[in-house]
Amino acid sequence: MIYHFQGGAKVAHHKHRTEGKPIEALPMPSRLFVHIHQNMGAPSKPVVAVGDEIQKGQLIAEPTAFVSVPIHAPTSGKVVAIETHPHPSMGKGTAIVIEPDGKETWVKGKPEQLDFRAMTRDQILTRIRDGGLVGLGGATFPTHVKLTPPANTPVRTVILNGAECEPYLTSDDALMRTRAEDMVTGLEIILKALGATESYIGIEDNKPEAIAALSQAAKRLQGCRVVVLRSRYPQGAERSMIKAILGKWLPGGKLPMALGVVVQNVTTAACITDAVVRGIPLIERVVTVTGSAVNQPKNVRVLVGTTWADLLRFCGGTTSDLSRLVAGGPMMGVAQSSFDTPIVKASGGLLALSKRDIAVPPVGPCLRCGNCLEACPMGLAPFAFPTYVRERDWQGAKRANALHCVECGSCEYSCPANRPIVHSVRVLKKAIAEADAKAKAAKMETKAGVGAA
Ligand code: SF4
Ligand code: SF4
Repeated sequence: MIYHFQGGAKVAHHKHRTEGKPIEALPMPSRLFVHIHQNMGAPSKPVVAVGDEIQKGQLIAEPTAFVSVPIHAPTSGKVVAIETHPHPSMGKGTAIVIEPDGKETWVKGKPEQLDFRAMTRDQILTRIRDGGLVGLGGATFPTHVKLTPPANTPVRTVILNGAECEPYLTSDDALMRTRAEDMVTGLEIILKALGATESYIGIEDNKPEAIAALSQAAKRLQGCRVVVLRSRYPQGAERSMIKAILGKWLPGGKLPMALGVVVQNVTTAACITDAVVRGIPLIERVVTVTGSAVNQPKNVRVLVGTTWADLLRFCGGTTSDLSRLVAGGPMMGVAQSSFDTPIVKASGGLLALSKRDIAVPPVGPCLRCGNCLEACPMGLAPFAFPTYVRERDWQGAKRANALHCVECGSCEYSCPANRPIVHSVRVLKKAIAEADAKAKAAKMETKAGVGAA
């Protein structure tokens, strides 16, 4: 049986360029640019200075809040600068620049194999936090926070998310085929950390080898079910995953915990095993480098801090008709303005697209066809959002739940008139936040005035 959610879009897939290829390791770059802000929440604070000799796995930036994570040296070498540098999703940010010494000397005290079954829940969470783990499906939410539900919100069910529904990306697929055992161990660790008893692994039906590998590995985990999902975008969104597997609808504005569920990406699960069992922090990842404008598309194992330029060089460079670089997938990725931008923990892909890939047909008036209504996995009325922008009706947009939009792009993809719906939603979200902040400030001023009187 193949499970599915409501809505979504049947997007054209371009996974063939890297699908089934082995993961290749990138040779050591001459410089690494390690950003201190790589997670949702607060940035970290550097604890090294220019001139310091550092070792692989050493803490180089410490968390500054509960919703923050430590950053570790991806290799041994020397800190040569701490400076402003392009960031793949934030424009610019502070990066610790490392000149590798090529020795790959691990920091002292890195533990060998540990048994997570002998650990307490707190010990597991501490190791996950100390490993600097964030959600690697793109959300970058600190993993230790996600695995710490409030006392009155017990979690019963864990879903490992192996959908990888973005049309070009295959890095999760490559890891599912090669690290299925570690993913299942990661799932066991998550279950123990949460005290949860029920588990599923959801994978789209276009990844038969991954389904076979995880089904085999999951045999040892009692009650764990590998669920084959219809390949439809955005199957990988948490809400779509929960709807398809559990048949439950998560209302907008609520977290999966409200239903007693936690969803974790499969690659995050493998990295949890690295951190908890092997003491290896999150310092490298697999990135899909693909698109019609890259000469040798590959899945590449790279150190965090490696630049797009180094990655593209390893993939044979780009063709002369390169028109756009995108970090992530084409549906939710971010256009890049510099080859010097480094990968961060959440960088699952780099697309080099040609003019032909990004040709945008002209925008027309809404045809009232209803395609966007059918496509929206959140049950919204996407056709109305450009109108709210035109009429500057922020309160109307709020009542229409614009804030619940997950910016998946399914509506825009399905729209025959090419209406700029996702851009409109972003404008609305910003305007609503500004209007709310103004209203709050005015309320506080009034209160202060009353108090003073
Ligand atoms: S309105 Fe938002 S959530 Fe709905 S399909 Fe469009 S982008 Fe996705
Ligand atoms: S899909 Fe496009 S044309 Fe059709 S109703 Fe929605 S906004 Fe209008």
